[in-house]
Parts: sequence; structure tokens; C-alpha cells
Amino acid sequence: MDRSDSAAGAEPQYPTAESVADFEHNIAAVQSRITAAAERAGRDAAEIRLLPVSKTVPEDRIRLAVQAGCRSLGENKVQEAKRKHGNLSDLDVSWSVIGHLQTNKAKEVAAFASEFQALDSLRAAEALDRRLQMAGHELDVFVQVNTSGEESKFGLPPGELPGFLAQLPQYTALRVRGLMTLAVFTPDTSRVRGCFALLRSLRDRARAESPELIGPGELSMGMSGDYETAIEEGATVVRVGQAIFGARAVPDSHYWPSS
Ligand SMILES: *Cc1c(COP(=O)(O)O)cnc(C)c1O
Repeated sequence: MDRSDSAAGAEPQYPTAESVADFEHNIAAVQSRITAAAERAGRDAAEIRLLPVSKTVPEDRIRLAVQAGCRSLGENKVQEAKRKHGNLSDLDVSWSVIGHLQTNKAKEVAAFASEFQALDSLRAAEALDRRLQMAGHELDVFVQVNTSGEESKFGLPPGELPGFLAQLPQYTALRVRGLMTLAVFTPDTSRVRGCFALLRSLRDRARAESPELIGPGELSMGMSGDYETAIEEGATVVRVGQAIFGARAVPDSHYWPSS
């Protein structure tokens, strides 16, 4: 099931933020929901990082978001991220690539990104590492796991994670920070929660078996529609676009091609 035919009617409206005040309002609203979700789960909200996702948002509005306090931005597509990084280089903001990487784009990511959250193949790891070694710096990475079992989602099958993690130390420019996932798109919260709980249990198992392979063991999970559930299940990074910037016109199938 994909988002366009499932949760559309049930989703909140996300008005477009058009001013610094709009962004301040939206960010504060998301932050307070993060805090509330953390409290419900008996967690410290300070351990949860909000990553604003600016894909499809034009640069003039991104400037307003940065004025309102955004210091890091997530982008799904490398070309778009690279263009924005270039055009907004006067701003003090770091760029996180959160979408699938084609190996021919590794050079670009190595050049401008401060984080890559969608590592799911050794080919991508190898290509990134080679470019990073040439550039002489390191990159924080999250390994993406397909916790929903949907063919249309990127990410490693859960059973392949331990073997994959065991291969990563050879890529010395990659700093493994933890795991990332997208939950199934459905209004059925228990199925969404199941995806997040699975990612956490994979992290816990990796920590128990080979703690040196998982770094700090962060969990990047949760988007505008499900970040509170993700926090209840242990998210340390939530990737929130529409609840901060406003609804996107581009359908999600552009980012997660249907199978
Ligand atoms: C777009 C995107 C998000 C944010 O989704 P919203 O619905 O805008 O909050 C999170 N993660 C990834 C990988 C994305 O591409």
C-alpha cells in the first residue's frame, strides 16, 4: 500500500511556511511534540535530533527556515542537494543526503554532504569511500534497512544487516552512526510501530554482538506523519519535511518508486 491511496484523507494539512515567523511556529510545534513523545516514552528529548527535510522547497524559502534556526537540512536527491548547497553556501548549514545513492553520484556526496543516511550496498560504500579518501575527509553514514518488507522501499533486508556491518570497517572514511528506515505508509499505527521496533531490535542485537560495528547506534526513523511513534520506539533522529515546510506537491512515488 502506498501513501497516495492509504492515508491521504487521514493526514493533517500542512500549510506552506512563507515567513520566518511561520517557520519558527512550525519548528516550535514539532519540537514540543518531540518533547511530549519523549516524555511519554520516559526519554530525554535532548537525545533526539530534528533533521528538517527541504526537498522540493525553493531556495528563497529555505533561507527563511535557516533564519528561523535550521542548522542542518536533509535532501533526498543528490543533484538537488548539490545545487542548493552551492547556491546557499553563504549560510551556516550542513547537508544530509537521505535518499538512495547511485554510485555515479558518490563523488558529489563526498564533496558536499556532512552525512549520508541511506547506505544499503557495498558498491555504494566502496564508491563513497574511494571519493572520500581522495578528498581527504570522512563522512557519517547510517545503514538503511527495509523494515516494511515492501519491494518499493530501498534498504537492506534485516537478515543481511549483520554481514553488511561486518564489511564496513574496510571503508575507513565511513563513520557508521547507526541505522535508518522508512516505515510502511499506512494509517495502521501498529504496523508503523512494528517497523520502528524492528529497527531498534536490530540495533540492540548489533550492539550486543559486535558493538564496535554500529558506532553510537543511532536510529534515524520517523517523518512528518509518524515521528512521534518513532520517538516512542527509540528514534534519535527524526526527518521531518512537510510539518515544517508545508505540504509537497510532488508525489512520494517520485522518491519511492512503486514496484
Ligand atoms: C521526504 C523524506 C522525509 C520527510 O518526509 P515528510 O513527509 O516531508 O516529513 C523523510 N525521510 C526521507 C528519506 C525522505 O525522502
